[in-house]
Amino acid sequence: MTIEHLHINGIPTPVSRIGLGTWAIGGRLWGGSDDSSSEATIRSAIDRGINLIDTAPAYGYGHSEEIIGKALAGIRDQVVIATKVGLEWPEQRPRRNASRARIREEIEASLRRLRTDRIDLYQVHWPDPLTPIEETARELEALRREGKILAIGVSNHSCEQMDAFRAVASLAAVQPPYNLFERAIDADVLPYAREHDLTVLAYGALCRGLLSGRMSAERAFQGDDLRQKDPKFQQPRFGQYLSAVDALTALARDRHGKSMLALAIRWVLDRGPTIALWGARKPEQLEGIDDAFGWRLSEQDLADIDRLLVEHVTDPIGPEFMAPPARTT
Ligand code: NAP
Repeated sequence: MTIEHLHINGIPTPVSRIGLGTWAIGGRLWGGSDDSSSEATIRSAIDRGINLIDTAPAYGYGHSEEIIGKALAGIRDQVVIATKVGLEWPEQRPRRNASRARIREEIEASLRRLRTDRIDLYQVHWPDPLTPIEETARELEALRREGKILAIGVSNHSCEQMDAFRAVASLAAVQPPYNLFERAIDADVLPYAREHDLTVLAYGALCRGLLSGRMSAERAFQGDDLRQKDPKFQQPRFGQYLSAVDALTALARDRHGKSMLALAIRWVLDRGPTIALWGARKPEQLEGIDDAFGWRLSEQDLADIDRLLVEHVTDPIGPEFMAPPARTT
């Protein structure tokens, strides 16, 4: 597993270029989860060389963090824990709140659930239009000085919002959506991260399973699985994305002897100072992660991939459906 560097406490710290994404481990919006399988997945990730685990209080309303805290008992120091702040969920309806008071409430709850005395990377989950960015940044900087968090990140923020944030607090990382199908950050956030030495935690690296190479039009999503509403998973668009995956699968196999999964991760890793967050909830879903390393995509590969996407996905759409609303008061 190759490494990227994340500035933790101002010191470049080696982290694995694949991070474990644990949204589905929270259960909510993924049709439920099995806790013993989730814990086994976390341990399996560490055994495979993954040392970054990304979570959020909103994932299962604390459940993902609780499972991580349990799974890391006795081995917490082996792992870089990245969690988030800035959402609340009155009556189980998530909305944005990155105010000073909410941050103080959330940090204590996250430390308790994660069974730790510090969070390695604390990320603002979504910008909150009702709280000045300076207020959020100032509070995170205060937490950093107090030693409760070691590094600060933002997620789903624009370059302008990051400028405002960086005027007040030191920023180590940014977490945007980024995968073969969702690459809006190529135009702004990725060059910005390069310029300002930010590590990019790319979320949805597998496009919610679409890029696993194992998705089919027959797949039925259970319970509250968000893919029932994800516009990429609705026909006729779903068919377009699946046919692009077929073409990409052939390219990965014929040119590199690699799987679709390896291609999806390799593509993210070849684009810059990126870490690919791989969402998994069963240990076997992490099989083959080593296949993403030891090779690179050529300029010709990248151009051909772009051509295939234009050819197959005639009605592309982004991941905007995931954005939680702001508070109304
Ligand atoms: P993802 O990593 O793109 O896809 C995860 C899904 O892909 C899994 O739940 C699984 O679906 C499927 N999958 C994984 N490995 C597979 C394999 N080997 N074979 C077949 N299917 C496989 O999606 P994500 O979990 O949404 O994103 C990754 C992480 O990024 C999250 O867990 C979270 O930590 C973070 N994230 C952050 C934000 C943000 O706003 N900051 C937003 C979204 C995600 P099934 O188990 O259903 O088959």
